[in-house]
Amino acid sequence: MYLLVCAAVFAAAYLLNITWISVFYHRALAHKAIELGPRTRRFVVAAGPWITGMDPKAWVAMHRLHHIHSDTDQDPHSPTTVGILGVLLKQLRSYTSIQRALAKGDPAITRRVRDLDFDAPDWMYNRMTALLPYVVHAAVAVAFASITGFWLLGAAFWLGMMSHPIQGWLINSFGHAVGPRNFDLDDDSRNPWLLGLLIAGEGFQNNHHAFPASAKFSFRWWEIDPGWGIVRGLDAVGLATIRYDKLIPTPEAWARKTAARRQLSELVDPAGQAAEQLLASLKPVPQAAMAAATEAALDLLEHGQEIADEAADAVRRQMLR
Ligand SMILES: [Zn+2]
Ligand SMILES: [Zn+2]
Repeated sequence: MYLLVCAAVFAAAYLLNITWISVFYHRALAHKAIELGPRTRRFVVAAGPWITGMDPKAWVAMHRLHHIHSDTDQDPHSPTTVGILGVLLKQLRSYTSIQRALAKGDPAITRRVRDLDFDAPDWMYNRMTALLPYVVHAAVAVAFASITGFWLLGAAFWLGMMSHPIQGWLINSFGHAVGPRNFDLDDDSRNPWLLGLLIAGEGFQNNHHAFPASAKFSFRWWEIDPGWGIVRGLDAVGLATIRYDKLIPTPEAWARKTAARRQLSELVDPAGQAAEQLLASLKPVPQAAMAAATEAALDLLEHGQEIADEAADAVRRQMLR
């Protein structure tokens, strides 16, 4: 029974953390796939650092850079360039350097988050005080455990609340290295099913990179995106508005679109090829003919007026007769 309670406490803390990251930071702030009311948005931004330990502005900047430079040298975290284990350190380094750039007002980074009308609190920009959320949650866990004697329960709470670095590493590494793909993209994004299920749908990286502005990350019926369930719940109670116009298509709609695109290219490609062949088969006008035509044109220009005057005179003479 005790273990069950510990598991439930871990799950609740974990769910709170992943909801903040996946639903609020990612789907709402970074991609605007859902819209939050002004009060909800303010609360999300103010409580975010304490719940996740992450600066929302730096998180969004890093994530947008990931989409722009996916799996290239400029990607803030890619297993393609630094390996699966390397992503753990790389994501931390990228995050801190992005925070420094934001603090300095470096336009290379600030222009990525120009639409965000908030800044993280100052304490998030100091290396020591940035750890405050981890310390505060640890203090809460220790206090609770020492009063009640339930140490495992305290640990479950702390681990659940502060699980973001591990969730982030799992997604940023395995989400671009392991699993099937639904969409043929230029990056290495993939859809590891288990990570999709366990980390609020974030595992479906290939679907997400194909349709980044979609509030729903799953595509096939067997892909389960718990974050989409949370989003729908928030929409139902009026705390968020889903942008249905940006939603990932159903596999049927996507198949129809792909078939239509294939049909169009089958029509257009032969026409283009025929035009190219026609252009290639056109023989250049012989130089002698060109010279004769030019001479005739010049002759007409030179004597045109003369011929016209003669014709006018002839008409006049005819009329006077
Ligand atoms: Zn990705
Ligand atoms: Zn994204």
